Amino acid sequence: MTDSGELADFRHEVEQWVRATLPPKWLAAIESGDPGDPALTDPEATRTWFEAVSRRGFTVPHWPPEYGGAGLDAEHGAVVRSVLAHYRADLPIRHFVPITLVGPGLISWGTAEQRARYLPGIISGADMWCQLFSEPGAGSDLASLATRAVATDDGHWIVNGQKVWSSFADQSRYGLLLARTDPERPKNAGITCFLLDMRAPGVTVRPLRQLTGSEHFCEVFFDNVMVPDSARLGPVHEGWRVALSALDAERSGLSGGSEVAVVALEPVLALARETGGWQEESMRDRLAALIATERALALTTLRSRVRTKDSDATGSITKLVQSELSQRIAEIRFELAGPRAAYWDDTSAIVPEPGAEPVSAEAYALLDSRRLTIAGGTSEIQRNIIAERVLGLDREPDPNRGRPWRELRRG
Ligand SMILES: Cc1cc2nc3c(=O)[nH]c(=O)nc-3n(C[C@H](O)[C@H](O)[C@H](O)COP(=O)(O)OP(=O)(O)OC[C@H]3O[C@@H](n4cnc5c(N)ncnc54)[C@H](O)[C@@H]3O)c2cc1C
Repeated sequence: MTDSGELADFRHEVEQWVRATLPPKWLAAIESGDPGDPALTDPEATRTWFEAVSRRGFTVPHWPPEYGGAGLDAEHGAVVRSVLAHYRADLPIRHFVPITLVGPGLISWGTAEQRARYLPGIISGADMWCQLFSEPGAGSDLASLATRAVATDDGHWIVNGQKVWSSFADQSRYGLLLARTDPERPKNAGITCFLLDMRAPGVTVRPLRQLTGSEHFCEVFFDNVMVPDSARLGPVHEGWRVALSALDAERSGLSGGSEVAVVALEPVLALARETGGWQEESMRDRLAALIATERALALTTLRSRVRTKDSDATGSITKLVQSELSQRIAEIRFELAGPRAAYWDDTSAIVPEPGAEPVSAEAYALLDSRRLTIAGGTSEIQRNIIAERVLGLDREPDPNRGRPWRELRRG
């Protein structure tokens, strides 16, 4: 898609700024076209770059300047994101939770003190956060969560329970925690949200190894963890409303990067030309379907950013399409690469975690793509949301609706 007039000038301005500010080795690596160049993942360069992006307001281009954003509208914000993605200079995925979930949650629900305390560390990348929502017995049906927070007489809460699949919890300074504060109310009416200090006594974090060999998410245990009431986000027992706004932001954030699909699709099209796959009719049909889906996704994403009156289920539509599209891109990439995807030498292998088995870049991308249709709500759940909120179909039957959470546990 090409911009016109003022938007094209703005794109040029952002590109000039990125080229002048990116660490020179990083820029050289991008221009050399070597995706495995270590300059692209150097931690010191990443930290310096994050700080520069933050000072310019580009961590959160659409946030108001008083909270550290650039105050841009949706179209200009989309230009910033697409230029950063083009230079492989978008923010590291591990900062997704603080920027996409916690920041908007603090702006909507936080006190002035909470915003002043937490937002600067989120925007500069100094503070990592994790999302402490899912539990062994509460994933798709998140509202049935069982981690308990009990109020004390001296203005604290005592938390006990367990979370799971908490991305980057082992690296996080804080966690956005949902806990049950009233088991006598229906399941989604007795939950409260907290801004948890992950260094508090009684918090234990255990990384989990994934299919790819990397350790990206963790189990988190709470054993009599004391949380001050000043770390409560939003009203007592109203945590479900806080969670819903965070989950909407997560879905939109996970789908917001149709740029991500473009960045992944372009090398696959180049690979198809290089390997001759493009000449095979059935492969060409599949590639054409990818291109058409990516274009439709990009336009729908743009429309949802510009037209705020669209249904709040738009994030579910774009999340569903983007995650399934990204999986198809990874599958076709693996197929096109042929034997190279199964046999790799030392220079082309990825070692996801120290001590893990090396794997080819194509195999890693294929395995890694499986998570996309689960994280942030599975594809089945997105289809349920679309069915109910967009198509107006009947709500899914729930025999427990309205019953106190305590009775559900006994039943
Ligand atoms: C990479 C990754 C990162 C994650 N990061 C985090 C994180 O940081 N913090 C966090 O809190 N959670 C995180 N999660 C957890 C994620 O939100 C849950 O895995 C997800 O919500 C599904 O829950 P579940 O795994 O318990 O599966 P279940 O809810 O047990 O679902 C099992 C299967 O049943 C289907 N199903 C369930 N209910 C229905 C229904 N009503 N209708 C139709 N089908 C249904 C599901 O689609 C799925 O196929 C992460 C997950 C992944 C994969």
